[in-house]
Amino acid sequence: MTDLHHLSVHELADGLKNKQFSSQELVKHFASRIDSLDGQINSFITKDFDNALKHAELADKLRAEGDTRPLLGVPMAHKDNLCTQGVLTSAGSKILSNFVSPYNATVVENIANAGFVSLGKLNMDEFAMGSDNESSYFGAVHNPWDTARVPGGSSGGSAAAVASGFVPVATGSDTGGSIRQPASFCGITGIKPTYGRVSRYGMIAYASSLDQAGTFGKSALDCAYLLAPMTGHDPKDATSINRPTEDYVADILATKTDGKPLAGKKIGVAKAYFGAGLDSEVEKSIRTALAKYEELGAQIVEVDITDPAITLATYYLLAPAEASSNLSRYDGVRFGYRCENPKDLHDLYTRSRSEGFGAEVQRRIIMGTYALSAGYFDAYYTKAQKVRRLIVDDFKKAFEKCDIIASPTAPTPAYKLGESLDPASIYLLDVYTIGVNLAGLPALSHPVGQANGLPVGLQLIGKHWAESELLKTAHTYQANTDFHTELSGIAKQG
Ligand code: GLN
Repeated sequence: MTDLHHLSVHELADGLKNKQFSSQELVKHFASRIDSLDGQINSFITKDFDNALKHAELADKLRAEGDTRPLLGVPMAHKDNLCTQGVLTSAGSKILSNFVSPYNATVVENIANAGFVSLGKLNMDEFAMGSDNESSYFGAVHNPWDTARVPGGSSGGSAAAVASGFVPVATGSDTGGSIRQPASFCGITGIKPTYGRVSRYGMIAYASSLDQAGTFGKSALDCAYLLAPMTGHDPKDATSINRPTEDYVADILATKTDGKPLAGKKIGVAKAYFGAGLDSEVEKSIRTALAKYEELGAQIVEVDITDPAITLATYYLLAPAEASSNLSRYDGVRFGYRCENPKDLHDLYTRSRSEGFGAEVQRRIIMGTYALSAGYFDAYYTKAQKVRRLIVDDFKKAFEKCDIIASPTAPTPAYKLGESLDPASIYLLDVYTIGVNLAGLPALSHPVGQANGLPVGLQLIGKHWAESELLKTAHTYQANTDFHTELSGIAKQG
């Protein structure tokens, strides 16, 4: 049973049902892989194996007693910005490096209720601010395809753990691309649902009007298995939508994938997404994938989209503005890191925050505070909000011509650790993903090839609430190709 980590969630659920293996065997298998290989990757901040084994034992007992929840006993892991009761929840920050959450985030609760067993908490950029996981207080994460490279971010630990075969699926969060971009860099599938589809209760806030949790898996179907229980209305989150969720898994399983399964579907492509800065090898893979979609019956149509440079500027005003407000609660008083021997209250605030937050987080707090300050508020924040509305409108217009918009997920493949130290040049890499968050749309990334041996992801953007359509479309592609089955160097080990 050395290859359990290559199985899909569907196969794991079948194997548990047919008693080919137990949940305890699964947990032990994945835990031993993590113990022996995560030294090279650093994807876990907290390995919660003792609890996982207890939960697995209970899952096996319940199943033997007739519990028919299909996912009962399947292992997974959470990004470390989702609150987990009794377990460190650090958001990758020194300021929360001693924070043991007294409660579970709604998505954590929902996933546990579906029967999944959490193996622990995954590394991330500090407070989800970043695109390469280099800003984590707990150290950088390494890409399992080439450990000298970044895994993407901010959910770099989640993507790297799935791509390493440490967990079959994982949660992530996406404020401006933090699920899709690391999925692209690590050669796996990742979906960010429509804003409001998944509860934000208990997810440590970065930019509340943009944050949304989602999932990573080796395939669209695996992502669907974990996403399905996460969704649904939550009265504890005022932005959570009260609207029935589609049955993602059943929809995928009922999808016809042979012949011209995408006949009648229009995929929009925008010239603006193929501009300067796009790596030529990445572009080649993207164009080949679009040709494959045509072969499967889809029609490619040209659409117009807001100039990505405008989208970038809008995001990098609004996200830091919201962050500066959200992060004002970390002041060393009630919880989290507190500086040693404060002279007075002012010193306590200043030093706790200066010592507790890393450089990138401080940079964003300063940018955001500036954009919100009296005298600049209208010129920056209000103006950016107005532009945000225009971006929403542009997407609406584009969707009058097509069902899905396709683009590269990121302009380049994974870059070298330590290579891209200039913050502005890192911000530019978010060019294809952030418009989606500003418009609250759902989007996924799935692997479509390689550039110089490194994975390349294609982004599919859907209309609001079109998660099922996105997942089915990616599944159709995956049923007819095998890029999603290619393994990273680390996944091949052990
Ligand atoms: N890279 C973007 C940022 O740093 C997006 C991060 C995210 O989606 N959490 O803000």
